[in-house]
Amino acid sequence: MADSPQEPHDELGQVDDHEATETISTGTLPDAETIRRLLRQAHRRYAGNDDGAVADHIPALADADPGLFGISLTSIEGDVYSVGDTAHTFTIQSISKAFVFALACRELGHEPVRNTVGVNNTGLPFDSVMALELNGGHPMNPMVNAGALATSALVPGEDLEAKWNFIRDGLSRFAGRRLELDEDAWASEQAANQRNTGIARLLESHGRMDFDAADATDLFTRQCSLLVTAEDLSAMGATLSAGGVNPVTGDEVVGPEVARDTLAVLASTGMYEASGDWLFEIGLPAKSGVSGGVVTVSPGKGGLATYSAPLDDAGTSVRGQLAAGFLSARLGLNLFASRPAAQRAARGD
Ligand code: GLN
Repeated sequence: MADSPQEPHDELGQVDDHEATETISTGTLPDAETIRRLLRQAHRRYAGNDDGAVADHIPALADADPGLFGISLTSIEGDVYSVGDTAHTFTIQSISKAFVFALACRELGHEPVRNTVGVNNTGLPFDSVMALELNGGHPMNPMVNAGALATSALVPGEDLEAKWNFIRDGLSRFAGRRLELDEDAWASEQAANQRNTGIARLLESHGRMDFDAADATDLFTRQCSLLVTAEDLSAMGATLSAGGVNPVTGDEVVGPEVARDTLAVLASTGMYEASGDWLFEIGLPAKSGVSGGVVTVSPGKGGLATYSAPLDDAGTSVRGQLAAGFLSARLGLNLFASRPAAQRAARGD
């Protein structure tokens, strides 16, 4: 039976965080009306939060409107719930890494990808060069830039264009629509891409780059420059929550094992060095990007996505993480939450 969250207080959600954590991870999502109400509450509760700063290491990102804020949830049944600026397009950035990793796993299998790219946290920022040197040139995981460059280089295709078509087609299937490249964002990042170029060259120097390093950097930069909306991201997350099948289009993008493996990697590394904090507070696999998107996945329930450009120090949207924490607790998504059996029986769940 569905775990309907009890809402002890008002529409604005002015409730004590612990008091309102009534729900647990098993069961299904609450009914549609409850989901809509909670999404509205999360939006109102955090829309006024002005903490964080818009990313500016890629010039094209610096112009983002810090006031835009959207929250979207797609259930495993394909129902879409949206509030705020969920049709605004922005570049997907690092969120692409999760889905390219899934596509690489689909093509190459569990073990080869694990050996080549790794699944452990570096404990260091997403663009760390030191992490690579400390680990003998092993990228450690696919969510930091080194691992993402290595993963993108691994996908099928003889040359840059073939690999690019593979990635673009695959990410579009996750979203359920053809994703467009933001040419200006791509050019802007290519012109300011010294760090990623250096990381690709370092991988090459360690014998861990089987593709041309400059082309791998271009490929990664293009995938980061695909335009998405919060609604697209929620469909992409919902696909991973539903055994790899996009619940809106019915397209079997990856298999259930790949979806599971991808979520495991997101739980341990999706928020870089802050992945432990995220798991402790929110209890779900998730991925953030420097343009302000966050996708959070509730296995067997759905995908939650937010867009809001101001970021914290680790590069994750401030409003995005607040909304994810609020909704994880209220919607009963936290994977680690349980209740004693007697209490569950008394409640009839
Ligand atoms: N393209 C971005 C960069 O290399 C991706 C990083 C991110 O979104 N965290 O800076």
